[in-house]
Amino acid sequence: MTGPPPTDPLEIGQKLVAVLEGGRRTSTYKLAVVLALLDLSVETVSSQPDDAVAISLDVLAERVLAIYWRQIRPVEGRRIRQSSDGRSSILSLVESLRDVTGVRDRVGSPEGTQATNPLEYREAVDAVRVTLVRYPLQLLQRIGTAKHECFLYDDSWMNTTSSRKVRERGNTVDLFPGVGHTLARLAPILRPAFQLAWIADIRRMNMWLNDDGPDLAAHLFGSDRVSMTRVRAILREGFGSRCFYCDARLTETPHVDHVLPWSRTSIDGLANLVLACQRCNSDKSDLLPAPSHVKRALERGEKTLQELSQSINWSSQYQRVEASARGIYATSPAGTPLWRARKEIDLGSRIDFAW
Ligand SMILES: [Zn+2]
Repeated sequence: MTGPPPTDPLEIGQKLVAVLEGGRRTSTYKLAVVLALLDLSVETVSSQPDDAVAISLDVLAERVLAIYWRQIRPVEGRRIRQSSDGRSSILSLVESLRDVTGVRDRVGSPEGTQATNPLEYREAVDAVRVTLVRYPLQLLQRIGTAKHECFLYDDSWMNTTSSRKVRERGNTVDLFPGVGHTLARLAPILRPAFQLAWIADIRRMNMWLNDDGPDLAAHLFGSDRVSMTRVRAILREGFGSRCFYCDARLTETPHVDHVLPWSRTSIDGLANLVLACQRCNSDKSDLLPAPSHVKRALERGEKTLQELSQSINWSSQYQRVEASARGIYATSPAGTPLWRARKEIDLGSRIDFAW
């Protein structure tokens, strides 16, 4: 590494975009790592922007596993490739884990598997972690063939397949001071860019996919509509049949709304889900809600949400919602539009999400 790492947010953002554009990827691992790092940076935002943030490699591996979990659903009956040669150790790990649960063709979730098959889940996460260190984490900051500059974290120790060596390093990716905060601020801009790059990679690696074929964006990154049927029923049972936002009595199939927008966090745990009428749901769209809505969603109670989600083998993700909300509001600039109610949008000055 030459010289001190950059601290200018724009420079860090530009370097990440260079990673995105730097030659043809042979697999989608780097994209998965960056998307997971962006989410985790939001969730670990510190009160001091210059703090050095350590991201747990176990948690990073779990997030990457969860990203691929939804993507192993077949498209038009075929398995989609996530690498040029069709081989992917992470994909195979995720598939085996899913097979273990016997839910191959039914709805399942990594969290559900963690509860029913803890040992297999743990082994899969360990194996994903080893692969992440050896390949995408070590290679992410190499742009082109020769240039190698650590701008996010020190990767000099990462050429290893030894779990012991990883543990000796604290089992973390240590982001340089200020980088975590910068990534959290850049997340709303970089997230869609990395998702688009992923969609382009999948098209390139799977030439049989037609342009008029399935909606790849929805397949790879959309919320799982099939599962929402069970969620709708349990939300109705737990909290009644009224719109969370305007209290209107709901019709037969109310909308399941992501309180923190799916486009910002992709949290489909029950703690982030409410029933909403069609008018509120479409008016709110992808806008950030006023913090009071998130607080009310969490005030439904961690224990209650946990029990309800367990009863349908779903996840609650209560703490993740709380952490994401804190990070999102803390890093949103003044003037960010906040959805308060239908046709009521605040341009927040300083956004307060005390909890
Ligand atoms: Zn409503």
